[in-house]
Amino acid sequence: MKVLKFGGTSVANAQNIEKVKNIAAKASNTEKAVIVVSAFGGVTDMLVKASLLAAAQDETYKQVLEEIEARHINTAQELIDINNQSKVISNIKRELNVLETLLEGAFLIGEITPKLLDKIVGYGELLSSFIINEYFIKEGLESVHKDSKTLIKTDDDFGKATVDFKTTNELCENYFGTVTYQLIVVPGFVASSSKGESTTLGRGGSDYTAAIIAAAVQADALEIWTDVSGMYTANPKLVKQAFAIPHISYEEAMELSHFGAKVLYPPTIQPVLS
Ligand code: ASP
Ligand code: MG
Repeated sequence: MKVLKFGGTSVANAQNIEKVKNIAAKASNTEKAVIVVSAFGGVTDMLVKASLLAAAQDETYKQVLEEIEARHINTAQELIDINNQSKVISNIKRELNVLETLLEGAFLIGEITPKLLDKIVGYGELLSSFIINEYFIKEGLESVHKDSKTLIKTDDDFGKATVDFKTTNELCENYFGTVTYQLIVVPGFVASSSKGESTTLGRGGSDYTAAIIAAAVQADALEIWTDVSGMYTANPKLVKQAFAIPHISYEEAMELSHFGAKVLYPPTIQPVLS
């Protein structure tokens, strides 16, 4: 089994998602592949923005919500042909209605708790993974959606929860050991507490989701796909002379991420080290 993670830029629009589909199809040709996806690029920031506006009782949160809605519905319409769209669109709309109710709650109370914020910001990954899996199915791939909230268990330190590896590893082994699909699409970033409340693994945490699953199932490979090819000596978007490092040890990669290399979320390497 392989685990492939695609970040926000890689799933930012229909064209990029088509590329992800080609990579996923290839990867799952010979073995099962878990596809971990981030929210569509920029959506998590929009969810945070909508939450803060609602908590400040600023009605403009509704405009941000409308943008979020349009983004998901338009992308789904681009990816899935008109004859197969209705079920997918109505599922997206149902989820968006719940999101709207949660934001309305924050607006009416004039407050957002860390618990509610986690529930709200997780919608980016839930929607992206749902849409991407539906698209894979329509493209003829043997694909299934699995909510990582049912696989990754954490404490209730909302915003940056700590993983309960014992329970998580057991749940992952059981699920991935018996699943019969070639492709399993899961949302990154989201998890749940022992009480079943929604939690998140911290901003940028989808890398970590992929590493947790890879370690739990002793995957042959963990691939973090992004818009920058490899790890660079410095951020190539800022430093012209930066070059890609041909080989890097886990320890060095971990050190680079701790010193701020944005390409990898710092806790990512730990689970796959041993
Ligand atoms: N969507 C989350 C974030 O923007 C997690 C991730 O993309 O890794 O922080
Ligand atoms: Mg990232």
